[in-house]
Amino acid sequence: MSLFFDETHKTLQETVRRFADQELRPRAAELDEEQGFNLEAMKKLGELGLLGVTADPNHGGSGMDAVAATLAMEELGAACASTALSYLAHSILAVNNLSVNGSEEQKAKYLPKLCSGEWIGSMAISEPGSGSDAFGLKTEAKKKGDKYILNGTKMWITNASHSDFFWVYAKTGPTKKDISTFIVEKSFPGFSVSRKLDKFGMRASPTCELVFENCEVPEENLVGSEGGSIAHMNHNLLIERVTISGISLGIARECIKYCTAYAKDRKQFEKPLMDFQMIQKMLADATAEYLSARSLTYEAAVAIDRLGVESQEALMLGTSAKLFAAQVGTKVALDAIQILGGYGYTKEYPVERYMRDAKLMEIGAGTNEVMRIILARLLMKDVFPGI
Ligand SMILES: Cc1cc2nc3c(=O)[nH]c(=O)nc-3n(C[C@H](O)[C@H](O)[C@H](O)COP(=O)(O)OP(=O)(O)OC[C@H]3O[C@@H](n4cnc5c(N)ncnc54)[C@H](O)[C@@H]3O)c2cc1C
Repeated sequence: MSLFFDETHKTLQETVRRFADQELRPRAAELDEEQGFNLEAMKKLGELGLLGVTADPNHGGSGMDAVAATLAMEELGAACASTALSYLAHSILAVNNLSVNGSEEQKAKYLPKLCSGEWIGSMAISEPGSGSDAFGLKTEAKKKGDKYILNGTKMWITNASHSDFFWVYAKTGPTKKDISTFIVEKSFPGFSVSRKLDKFGMRASPTCELVFENCEVPEENLVGSEGGSIAHMNHNLLIERVTISGISLGIARECIKYCTAYAKDRKQFEKPLMDFQMIQKMLADATAEYLSARSLTYEAAVAIDRLGVESQEALMLGTSAKLFAAQVGTKVALDAIQILGGYGYTKEYPVERYMRDAKLMEIGAGTNEVMRIILARLLMKDVFPGI
């Protein structure tokens, strides 16, 4: 429990933790091995009102705050980080984006299905040639009569093999700023999911390539006006960073819990591992690092809720939280393998999966390097921390 939680958050935390223990934890290892997808759990998250955790209540959402969305990520991430990532792609990258940026008509048409779990959603910005340089994308949309015709390829799109709804960015003019947002349904002519990627971690969260080959998108599926994507991204990027940090927190917390129990039980030199100071150091450091990352992440979520996503202070907190929590997740999971020794290196114990999953948070939703670039830019603009 965090001091940033009110009574609603505490109740939500208990509900999501119970759900994750029952629905995610028992299948996490098997789904990781076979690169499956816990679609049943995703649908049940809809029944719990969590698929639209932050979405507009007038269209089926739960209208909760960024703290609630982050804690849901932490609880799901502690049991199965892959499902947490798929949940993030659906509830924040797709649903929150639509809720914040879509028109009333678009929200009325799509949000109820996405919030109930009838439809699964994805967000597609990355391409084979543009990741960190997101505005360097090449997918093009050209107006033809009452339709837009999309051509191009998207890469790394979470949930795509199971999604019905795609929030897609494409170029509608010659400059880097001429990027527009489109809602694409999986049944639109010219759209296909071409291949699923075989990954190191987050294996139970499908990641796919998308192809748009003269894909026909009705003009009413343009979000806002042409060239409006930069504003759309600005409305959603910060909450993406803060909520994905929740997954790193869940992994770190779970590793500390698992390793402490293991170190108390496992004996070498006729003593429990927990009696050895070098093991104690790893667990003590992990605890301080997890708690620091947790405080920063929830403070960033509170900043979003109180100051708004356009606040420079919220941007500094959220970007720092993403950078720090991601590194803590990977480090704590690596140390967890060390504490378990040879057993930690096998698939018979869960910590190697936590380590593989944790690494993604240093890459997805903006790499560590991109977070550092954003923080340095804020300092250059005389936005200083802690003032
Ligand atoms: C499992 C997974 C799920 C994903 N889900 C989605 C999704 O749902 N939707 C979506 O649109 N995208 C998604 N992504 C894409 C993700 O956002 C990108 O992978 C990420 O932004 C990095 O882009 P890239 O992989 O092209 O790496 P690159 O941009 O090629 O970067 C390679 C390396 O160079 C570094 N680098 C790049 N530019 C600079 C610079 N200026 N200064 C210093 N270093 C730099 C990077 O930090 C990195 O270390 C996903 C990725 C993965 C792996």
